[in-house]
Order: sequence, then structure tokens, then C-alpha cells
Amino acid sequence: MNIGILGGGQLARMMAQAGRSLGLNFMFLCPDIYACAAPFGEHLCVPYGDEDAQKRLANWADITTYEFENVPLSVVDSVQKKVSLYPSSSVLSVARDRLKEKTLFRNLGIPTANFSPVDSLEDLRNAMKNIGFSAILKTRTDGYDGKGQALLHGKNDLPSAWMKVGKAPCIVESMVAFNRELSIIAVRDQRGKMVFYPLSENHHRDGILRLSISRQDDPMQARAEAKIRYIMEDLNYVGTMALELFQVKDQLFANEFAPRVHNSGHWTIEAAQTSQFENHLRAICGFPLGKTTSVQSAAMVNLIGLLPSERQILNITDATPHFYCKAERPGRKVGHVTLTSKDYTSEDFQQRLSTLLQLAGQPELAELNFLNAATQTSHN
Ligand code: AMP
Repeated sequence: MNIGILGGGQLARMMAQAGRSLGLNFMFLCPDIYACAAPFGEHLCVPYGDEDAQKRLANWADITTYEFENVPLSVVDSVQKKVSLYPSSSVLSVARDRLKEKTLFRNLGIPTANFSPVDSLEDLRNAMKNIGFSAILKTRTDGYDGKGQALLHGKNDLPSAWMKVGKAPCIVESMVAFNRELSIIAVRDQRGKMVFYPLSENHHRDGILRLSISRQDDPMQARAEAKIRYIMEDLNYVGTMALELFQVKDQLFANEFAPRVHNSGHWTIEAAQTSQFENHLRAICGFPLGKTTSVQSAAMVNLIGLLPSERQILNITDATPHFYCKAERPGRKVGHVTLTSKDYTSEDFQQRLSTLLQLAGQPELAELNFLNAATQTSHN
């Protein structure tokens, strides 16, 4: 089968790596000449809006998908008219707009931070009367990895925050004093069957994910599954989805969902029976879904800006590096490492994780005690 992907970054690359053993072929439409998925298929290196390239992709592919939310919606719409595309463009139109997304959560009865739409500085001033400080201003579309966001601690911050987000349509939301950040990854097939991965516990700095730990038998698992199930069923979703959550005591607040494979699920390559990448492909191709059971405990550490040497990483027992072959640049995800163990509570695992975090330039995360999830506090 031939799979067309809009986008050619590391998510497309890992999808294609997973698809090789299923005998799938790949074509990527991506304007970046250095698209890191390119070695794994044919690369159409033109702007997304190039209609000839869209036609070529649609004629060649049996099924299409996208690897990130910022592919222009008009392009996704146009490809979907020519060939099967999952998740559908109507899903993408919700996922790429924070206002539509939070409104969906609210309509489904899923708790969120208090939020309000903002289209002007005056709107922002008015909204803050209800939202209260501290709060966070986020562009409705095109934000990722902490970009398009500004923190609001007091009235004096409002004009500069409005400038910082480029006066673009936004939402403002209250800061949630969470105990933990979690994400649930689930996959839904074309007949509505769903499978769920064990929760990931996530640690961010400056809005960028640094570390995810797989949590088998987490007490919040069933509640998280119920929430993502509502969303996937409501959207008649097909493929892999990630739902990012804030845990406050024993309540879960939805932050956002990603209509795709997700950074917090990269550990599934080494530590789950079927990876999130393979299951996404199985779902969109109409194949039976694979089991999501963890075969071992895992932690995933992102390599941001700089790559340690292979030798340094491979000196750590059971560490598997994934280098994306992208140029090193501050704040850019250039790779990740998955560390596995029979038991994440063992001294030995904690020690190896601490060494890996130091190598990845995250010494302050190495200080955290990951054994006692209940004591984790917000550290943004
Ligand atoms: P987002 O782009 O919405 O995924 O935000 C990136 C990260 O910023 C989240 O994973 C949190 O660590 C933090 N963050 C975003 N929104 C909030 C919020 N309302 N309250 C607390 N932290 C937040």
C-alpha cells in the first residue's frame, strides 16, 4: 500500500520506519529541503499549496495522513477531496484552533482551565476580570512548543503580551496549578474499535516537552481513557490521538489534543507491544490494531538543540538513541533517547535516567524524584 504524508519531519520519519515492516511505501509533501523523513520515501519538496504536487501525492497514494497541525487546512481539504485522508480535515479544523478545541472539551463536559477568546487588547483587559491572574495568552492557531504564548502575572503585562503574540486572535486561560502533567494516547480504527496506551507523565520546560515516563497501572488511567474516548467518538476519529492533561488532586483537566502521533508516545517504539506509529498506520489502512500493552517500563528524554555523541548515550545500559538527522539549533528537537527497564522504581533505573538527563542538558530534571508521582508539583 502507498501512504502519502503531509509533512516530512521526525514524526513522518518514525511513521515510515514503522511502516517498512508492514511493507508500506511512503511519499512526503514537505517544503523543507532538509526534511528528515526524505530517506524513507519519495520527497516532493515544494510548498504545501503546490497543486501539481498535491495531485501527484493523491494519485500515487492509497491513503493519506498528516504529521502536524500546522499544515494549511485548505491543503488538507483539497487532498481529502481526491483520496482517503485520516484524521479528517474536520478533525484538524478543531485541533488547530485552541478556541474550537477548548469549546469541544467544554461541550463534552470535560474540565478545562477557564478560558476566553481575545481579539484585541480591550478584549484581553475585559477577559482578565473573570479569568484572574496568573494566566496565559495563546494564539488560537499556529502555536507549538511554547511559541505564540505569553504569561500574564499582572495588569502591566497585558500590552507587552498582546504585542508578543503578534496581535493575533488568541485565547486567554487561567494557569492551572497542576500536580502532574499527563497524556493519554489512544488509537481508533475505521469501525470504531479503540485501544489505549498506558499514561505518560510529562515534564516540560519553557513550553517544550523534555521528559516522558510511561506509567503502568496509574490510578488516573481509567479517567483519562474515558475522556479521550468521548473526544474520539464525538469526532468519529480514525488514527492515533494524544490528549494532554493536567492532574489537579484527583481531577483531570484537558489542555489540548494532537490529531496525530505524539512526542510523549515515542517510548512505545521500544516498550509497547505495538508502537503508536505502527498503530496509526494500521488504523488508517484499515488493518487490525496491535496490542498496546507495555512490555517494560520506559522513560523518553528529548534531545533539544544539541546532540550528545552516540558513544556517550550507548554507554548507558538499555538506552536507545533516535537521531533525527536535523541540524542542531537552540530549542529544536533533534533527537530523543528511550531508556527501558523491567522496573522504573529500581535504584538502577533512576540512576541511568539521571545520567541521561545530565547528558541531555536537563540537570534540574535529574534532581526530581520520579518514584513518588503524588508529590510532583508544577514547575513551569
Ligand atoms: P500548550 O502549548 O498548550 O501545550 O502548552 C505547553 C505547556 O505550557 C504545557 O504542557 C504546560 O506545561 C504549560 N501550560 C500551558 N497552558 C497552561 C495552563 N493553563 N496552566 C498551566 N500550565 C500551562
